[in-house]
Amino acid sequence: MTPDQPRHHQDGVGVPDELDRLWTPHRMAYISGENKPADGTSGECPFCRIQSLDDEEGLVVHRGERCYVVLNLYPYSPGHSMVCPYRHVADYTELTPEETTELAALTQQAMRVVRSVSGAHGFNLGMNQGAIAGAGIAAHLHQHVVPRWAGDQNFMPIIGRTKTLPQLMTDTRRLLADAWPT
Ligand SMILES: [Zn+2]
Repeated sequence: MTPDQPRHHQDGVGVPDELDRLWTPHRMAYISGENKPADGTSGECPFCRIQSLDDEEGLVVHRGERCYVVLNLYPYSPGHSMVCPYRHVADYTELTPEETTELAALTQQAMRVVRSVSGAHGFNLGMNQGAIAGAGIAAHLHQHVVPRWAGDQNFMPIIGRTKTLPQLMTDTRRLLADAWPT
């Protein structure tokens, strides 16, 4: 990151991970509360609501039998996807064996697809379980698939400044959906 680029700071304690050094101005809206569910019910849940939207509108990449893949509206990096069960469950231990298997399989497929269209050098995979662990939407389990590139903290400002985010997200969704094996 070059010195003239603005940085986003949050108050708090802890050890920043490397994702914090990415240029992600669109996360400001999220941090300030926009689109945050009012409570943990299914009716307030974006992961439940997205299922009823069309793919383009909901940024859905792939719909499986028990789980689906959706782009993160506040991506850490281009192609940041999430794999979620259709059911409104919060905890990993609540998944059925079938859901567990499909969540894993779709995570693998998302990695393959993102790698094939973007040449990602690596990935951060993971689930934040509970608000205390950093889950933004704790009531509905979601597995993050975050592609990484060597030097991606330099790549992001270029994208952020030259394309509007909605267009980028729509393009990204189409790229991934088209590359997803049928
Ligand atoms: Zn839900």
